[in-house]
Amino acid sequence: MKVTQDYTTKEALLELYNKPLLELVFEAATVHRLHHNPEEVQMSSLLSIKTGGCAEDCGYCPQAARYHTDVETQKLMTVDSVVEQAKNAKENGSSRLCMGAAWREVRDNKDFDNVIEMVQAVNDLDMEVCCTLGMMNQDQAKRLKNAGLFAYNHNLDTSKDYYDDVISTREYEDRLNTIDNARKAGLSVCSGGIIGMGEAIEDRIGLLMSYMEMETPPESIPINALVAVEGTPMEDQKPIEQWEMIRMVATTRIAFPKSVVRLSAGRTKMTMEGQALCFMSGAGSIFAGDKLLTTPNPDYNEDMEMFKILGLTPKAAFSDGDKPETKPDLIIEARKAKEAVRVEELKAARTKIDGFEPRKVTTVDSL
Ligand code: SF4
Repeated sequence: MKVTQDYTTKEALLELYNKPLLELVFEAATVHRLHHNPEEVQMSSLLSIKTGGCAEDCGYCPQAARYHTDVETQKLMTVDSVVEQAKNAKENGSSRLCMGAAWREVRDNKDFDNVIEMVQAVNDLDMEVCCTLGMMNQDQAKRLKNAGLFAYNHNLDTSKDYYDDVISTREYEDRLNTIDNARKAGLSVCSGGIIGMGEAIEDRIGLLMSYMEMETPPESIPINALVAVEGTPMEDQKPIEQWEMIRMVATTRIAFPKSVVRLSAGRTKMTMEGQALCFMSGAGSIFAGDKLLTTPNPDYNEDMEMFKILGLTPKAAFSDGDKPETKPDLIIEARKAKEAVRVEELKAARTKIDGFEPRKVTTVDSL
């Protein structure tokens, strides 16, 4: 049987993808067992911390402001409500929390400071924290790393060739730069794609080739099936067959044997048997909870039943890397110190006003 190192060209990967399905699954299952515990699947939760109103035009996304979908715009959640949701997710077996904000890019403002505090708080709960916040520069990536972020998600979505058919408001190169910034800050990288957007099989392989060309491929590769949402340009795309999902998971597993391949959006259209073949082929994670940002996802109890039937156990946090240390954020500390000074100044001003005695005015009558 061929080993992974042979699959470094587009032609070889294409041939692999098109192998008889059961041969492909067998090969992927063999590679998976060399590098991962096949009985464990990580349960992750995806939380939309800021929903809708995004300036980008990703053709699959109901959160883009320019499309008319049912998504209601919501401003950034508070740190306390994120912590509450994280605790619930942990109680339900999730060991990773991915926080998604519908932003074009990270901005250096109070909202980002709040996200930093969210990361610190969720890391303190001993969960792997992942964020997907759009494009970011290296300083922002460093702040997230210092806050205790485990991974940064930034999907390439598809091949470089098909990219312009999906998004026009930012370049493929922009995405690669953000991934590079995350990598340089020492973050683990989560990056994957969506199939079923009208792309050719060559584009699916092209996506994998983009990762193959990186010095270090992503530690985590989510594979999504398009969930066609009414009001988006892709609303009429037919759902893909689950066999295509299995092929994509298996090919990704063989191409990147050490990465965690995540079976992500689109599971509602798959049978339990189809998902079982994905786990057999190397999918090492699912998203738990009945919503994936804004689109439907299987019910928690259904997933628990599936785990029971298949004999799978939820994977513990930090099985694939140490828990990041949380360091103080100098920008937040400076802001808080400034705010404390301001509060003291206001208090002093108030005392002055309260203790103010009007000067006695001498009138003609009092003489
Ligand atoms: S995928 Fe992200 S960047 Fe693209 S429109 Fe949706 S929220 Fe915005």
